[in-house]
Amino acid sequence: MDKEWPVEIIRSERRRKSVSAKLKDGRIIIRAPQAISDEELEPIIANLKAKLLRKAQITPQTNQQLAARAQEMNRDYFDGKLRWHSIKYVTNQNTLYGSCTPSTGKIRLNDRLATMPEFVRDYVIMHEICHLVEANHSDRFWALVNRYPLTERARGYLMALSLEQIE
Ligand SMILES: [Zn+2]
Repeated sequence: MDKEWPVEIIRSERRRKSVSAKLKDGRIIIRAPQAISDEELEPIIANLKAKLLRKAQITPQTNQQLAARAQEMNRDYFDGKLRWHSIKYVTNQNTLYGSCTPSTGKIRLNDRLATMPEFVRDYVIMHEICHLVEANHSDRFWALVNRYPLTERARGYLMALSLEQIE
């Protein structure tokens, strides 16, 4: 399911030998020496990518990490002004990726998201915390959600998985 992670290669004169890979904003960033050829690089990238994805899949985001990330996004996109009661993963959310009940401040995310790429998870967090401000899917709501720059890409990812099922 993660095979479509986009890869970005950054070559550097200063880097001599090692090639590194990390996940950032839903992309795999590869840093490689200038001198290495594409042919040499290809198997190294494949290997690093496999390792990264394995790691991403066996370490799902915990509820504690989720809560911390949601607060971080609150600070980044709302100057920390949003308030909620709880945000957590639930296992019984069979058809939806997330839901928010503004009246009680309870946000629930499908635990399938815990192992999805970070940018997809962040989008669903953003979507749900925006419902604290706009309880509907109006233009005003989407204008808020779109403060998160990877919204379109994340929606595409979810649509490719099934349909975007999120409230
Ligand atoms: Zn919604």
